[in-house]
Amino acid sequence: MRDMVFAGTIAAALLLAPMTAAAQEAPVQTADPILRGLGASDFPRLKQLEPNVYAYEELRPSEPGKFKTTVDMIVVTSGGVLVADGQGNVAATEKLVAQIKKLTPLPIKYVVVCSEHEDHTGGNAAFKAAFPDAVFVASPVSQKALAASATPPAEAVADKRTIHLGATDIEILNLGRAHTGGDLSVYVPGAKVLFMSEIYDHRLFPSLARGYPSEWLATIKKNQAIGAKWVFGGHGFVDDPATMKRELAAFADELTAVITEGRRLHDAGVACRSVTDCDAVKVANWGPYETWSERVTQAPGALVRVYQEIDGKLPKQE
Ligand SMILES: [Zn+2]
Repeated sequence: MRDMVFAGTIAAALLLAPMTAAAQEAPVQTADPILRGLGASDFPRLKQLEPNVYAYEELRPSEPGKFKTTVDMIVVTSGGVLVADGQGNVAATEKLVAQIKKLTPLPIKYVVVCSEHEDHTGGNAAFKAAFPDAVFVASPVSQKALAASATPPAEAVADKRTIHLGATDIEILNLGRAHTGGDLSVYVPGAKVLFMSEIYDHRLFPSLARGYPSEWLATIKKNQAIGAKWVFGGHGFVDDPATMKRELAAFADELTAVITEGRRLHDAGVACRSVTDCDAVKVANWGPYETWSERVTQAPGALVRVYQEIDGKLPKQE
C-alpha cells in the first residue's frame, strides 16, 4: 500500500514538473518531447554514450501539432569520423556536421545510410559539401533506391562489413528487412554500442507502410542477440542502457501485438484494401499501444501491410 502511494506521488510529480532534473533522470517513456517537458530550444541534443560514441537527437514534425526526434550515431576515431544516418534536410544536417566539427578536427570518412528514407537522408548533401571524400555506405537495396540522389552510396553491405577506422573497429550489419527493406545497423564492439536506426523506433507505433512485419521482428531479435550494452534507434529518445534495452523489448512486443491484431481482423473477414479503404482500422483494438506516438497516422498502413503479408503479397527479398 505504501509503495502504491509512493508510486502515485512520483507520477503526479512528473506530471506537474515540466523541466526538472528529476524528469531528466527518470524520463517519461514517450516519443513526444512535449510530454517529456522538452521544447525546441532543447534541440539538437548530443549525448555521449561511451568515450567517442555519441547519439545526436534533433526535432522534426510528427503528427499535426506534434514533434518527434530523428537520431543519428557519431563515432569519433583517431582516423576520422563515421556517422550513421543524417537528418531530413540540408540545414538540419549542416547543424549535425557543425556539431561533429566541435568534437574533432578530423574529417567524416564514412556516412552509413541505415534508413534510406527522406527524413534520414534528405540532408546528405551537407555531408558531401563539408567532406567531399566521405564514402556513403548502404545496403544493396538502399544503394539502388538512392542511386539517383545527391549522394549515391558508393559501397553496399549485403551481410556484414567491418571498417577499421583509426584504432576502432566498426561493424556495419545487414540483419534482415525491417522498416525500409534496406535496413542496416551499426555496432561498435569495443564500446558495445548498437545503433539500429528505424529498426528500433522508441515508443512509436510501428511505421509499417513500407515495412515487413514478421521479418522486422526477426531482425530485432538478431540485433538483441548481439548483446550490446547500448541500443538506440532512429526515432524516439536515448535514455539509460537498461531502459533502452527494456524499451526495445517493449517495441518488439508492440510489433507482435500489431501483427496479432491484424491477423485477428483478417481472419474475421474485416476488409482493409488500402490506407484510405480500411474497415479494420475502425474496429482495431490496440490495447496499451493506442496512445503510442503516431498511432493514428501509422495504423492504416500497418494493417494494409500485415494483410499483404498474410496474403503473400509483400515484395520478395531481392
Ligand atoms: Zn524515419
